[in-house]
Amino acid sequence: MSEPFIYELGEPGRHGVDVPDVDVPETPIPAEFVREELPLPELSEADVVRHYVHLSQKNYAVDVGFYPLGSCTMKYNPKVNERMARLPGFVNLHPLQDPATVQGAMQLMYELQAMLAEIAGFDAVTLQPSAGAHGELTGVLIMRKAQIARGQGHRTKILVPDSAHGTNPATTTMSGLRVVELPSDKNGNVDLEALKRELDDDLVGLMITNPSTLGLFEQHIVEICELVHQAGGLVYGDGANLNAIMGIVRPGDLGIDVMHFNLHKTFSTPHGGGGPGSGPVGVTAELAPFLPGPIVDVDENGEYIWKWPEQSIGRVRSFHGNFGVIVRAYTYIRMHGAEGLRRVSEDAVLNANYMQARLQARGDYPIPYGHRTCMHEFVAQGKISGAAGVHALDVAKRLIDYGFHPPTMYFPLIVHEALMIEPTETESKETLDAFIEALTRIAEEARTDPDLLHTAPHLAPVRRLDEVRAARRPILTRTPPAHRATK
Ligand SMILES: *Cc1c(COP(=O)(O)O)cnc(C)c1O
Repeated sequence: MSEPFIYELGEPGRHGVDVPDVDVPETPIPAEFVREELPLPELSEADVVRHYVHLSQKNYAVDVGFYPLGSCTMKYNPKVNERMARLPGFVNLHPLQDPATVQGAMQLMYELQAMLAEIAGFDAVTLQPSAGAHGELTGVLIMRKAQIARGQGHRTKILVPDSAHGTNPATTTMSGLRVVELPSDKNGNVDLEALKRELDDDLVGLMITNPSTLGLFEQHIVEICELVHQAGGLVYGDGANLNAIMGIVRPGDLGIDVMHFNLHKTFSTPHGGGGPGSGPVGVTAELAPFLPGPIVDVDENGEYIWKWPEQSIGRVRSFHGNFGVIVRAYTYIRMHGAEGLRRVSEDAVLNANYMQARLQARGDYPIPYGHRTCMHEFVAQGKISGAAGVHALDVAKRLIDYGFHPPTMYFPLIVHEALMIEPTETESKETLDAFIEALTRIAEEARTDPDLLHTAPHLAPVRRLDEVRAARRPILTRTPPAHRATK
């Protein structure tokens, strides 16, 4: 049975808080603010606490179990990050305070800008964008403005590989530019011949994710960047997969001109359920004048100041970004140090290859690019031999019964029945093995009792939902039974 709605609980006269007697003269509340019928439930403190704790226990989270949601980097979020983000000296700041009174916060931002620039090989960084997608929009607007400054404002075309995240073409369209899709070759790289055909005077640039959403390192990345540059274009790097390469290779060194970081992915902020995020953008020296402003700089007296880049595209959000996420990312980087960040990426890649190799050896699920070493994630297919009617969706739903969060499904679009698995570096070998065992048992179930999968999940708080109907005709209100909960 589903959890009762809180408005359906309670008994008249029950209460959790005793309001003290008024010790000031009573003033009548204006009648327009008073409702006679306000069906608030009457509950004890214990009832309220239990209700919300029960609800929270129905949530799946990375603090509850394995969460191999590919491309999202659902790594463990160290609790020290939360401690730092809650320090009173950070929490009680106001963004309009005089800079002289917030030097510590500005120093943290300045140092994070510098650390991100160092990690990814850029000259300047803005911390303003609120998410990866927002960073993409910022980056493409920077590319466009830089080209207008070069006298190349007539250019309108952005190339996006077919393995890209949907935000890449969406960003292009929102920037008023035109998307041209590039096919991938049989090794999962960008098809170089297709790229060459699109290198003309209309090119703004290329958006590329490296490693790609297939979990593969683009083997021609340097050549690709050179080709785009020769055609007068710029290269945007989608940095969502930075967790695979930290301390090993720097996108800026490969020829990427501008890239977003997903602090909530790579640098560990809890981000299930849609937020909060932070999508700083790093750029080359050539693009630095176009960054959104203000960014933190330091003057000759060592004071931290707000500075507007000369040819800034303007603000992309209110104030200075999601400061709480910025503090968490700073803490995470300082806790790991340079050596530690490299180790993070090495272990993330090792874990993914371990899972890919074991799954491939079992042979239940095809792995279309399994002939290559993967990076921090890999893409399998929910197509089980001997179980024709079973789909990736059924496998994913059945995994819930085994206590796991399902992997990313049906993405990237170029892999049929995709199951994109990203273990991250924070999982033990035992957890990775348990997940492989669950996938193997599900493959057996698919062959012997496919309906068990078609009707899964069986053990979750809610059963299989009609996702199309939920999206098209959502029921967003619930009317409480009238006999309860009124005074
Ligand atoms: C997550 C992701 C994005 C978008 O980032 P958000 O922070 O969710 O806006 C873009 N590209 C790829 C490859 C991603 O995985």
